[in-house]
Amino acid sequence: MNAYVNPQLGGDPVRASHRIETFIRQSTFDRPTLVLDTQIVADQYRALKAGLGRADIHYAVKANPARAILSTLIAQGSHFDAASRGEIELCLSLGARPETISFGNTVKRASDIAFAYAAGIRIFAADATEELEKLSEHAPGAQVYIRLLVGSTEADWPLSRKFGCAPEMVVPLMTRATELGLKPVGMSFHVGSQTRRAEMWTGTLDHVAAAWATARAAGFDLDLLNIGGGFPAFYGEEIEAPTLYAARVMEMVEARFDGATRVMAEPGRGMVAEAGMIAAEVMLVSRKSDDDICRWVYLDIGKFSGLAETMDEAIRYQFITDRDHEETGPCILAGPSCDSADVLYEKRPVQLPLGLRAGDRFIIRNCGAYTSTYSSVCFNGFPPLDVVVI
Ligand SMILES: *Cc1c(COP(=O)(O)O)cnc(C)c1O
Repeated sequence: MNAYVNPQLGGDPVRASHRIETFIRQSTFDRPTLVLDTQIVADQYRALKAGLGRADIHYAVKANPARAILSTLIAQGSHFDAASRGEIELCLSLGARPETISFGNTVKRASDIAFAYAAGIRIFAADATEELEKLSEHAPGAQVYIRLLVGSTEADWPLSRKFGCAPEMVVPLMTRATELGLKPVGMSFHVGSQTRRAEMWTGTLDHVAAAWATARAAGFDLDLLNIGGGFPAFYGEEIEAPTLYAARVMEMVEARFDGATRVMAEPGRGMVAEAGMIAAEVMLVSRKSDDDICRWVYLDIGKFSGLAETMDEAIRYQFITDRDHEETGPCILAGPSCDSADVLYEKRPVQLPLGLRAGDRFIIRNCGAYTSTYSSVCFNGFPPLDVVVI
């Protein structure tokens, strides 16, 4: 399988993240540590922007809210999509202008809406009548885009079902928004996280475009299309390079959405995953019986301390050990906590060096997204994932 070659980075992601790997090899850590390289974030922003063209990038802060990442993106000219007051305050405190922040969570606390409005934020998401009522009370006159439910998806980490409304709800919600004094300016959707190829967007874009055309035919002068996230990161399966991928998505958008003079994209994973590696350690290697085919490898990091996306073995991380030149065999990989759900990969075991033993360094590649924020605070007494920026 080919790793992608990122023309903006002038090489493959292994080379791009070389600085992180070198840093980890030269350091000692007393707990699992996510090491981030903001240069990779800046490069990735430029690569995505080159393909997205006229679309504004609103980085999905939840993927990784490290201050150094947000500052890097502010310097690049990025906008932001925030899900809560905490994320909005963080962006503002680092100098992001309120007019560059969208409040994209469809489930917002009323006091958070009031806070955002007072801070100058004017673009909000909604997918339900009650949310529109909250917005009209606490953000009078604000622009609102309606999030559409996306049915089938080819994403590795689907986000369907929980967010968005059915297509037939769009016009009634926009009508209600108008009655409430809000400005229904457009629509949003999320194709599903880790959608590996641009062509996988086709069905979703057709679905959203039909609802868009219906709303415009009903008299709503929509001009804002928010295409959400879904931009992939390299986890071992082939993906398209970011510029090409983004350009192909935009080409499909241009062919489908009349009047969409404002386009927003909200990459999270695709912006930051490849900018981080976790320095972890092997705690124990064991077999359950003398004739056990699989070894059990226990790490000092697990589902509750940063690797939540191994749930259902959906995201399959890649590893680096100091013994990668040795012969390998199948292993079940598990975390350190006393919860039996804390098994990372079992259905599809991972191949690891036969000589692997307790105390070995264990590097987890491309995990700058959805790790530090998913880390519990001291479940079982294990400290949360530490973060270091180089
Ligand atoms: C999580 C999220 C994103 C980012 O998704 P990725 O797949 O990480 O790019 C974008 N938009 C919204 C509304 C989200 O909730």
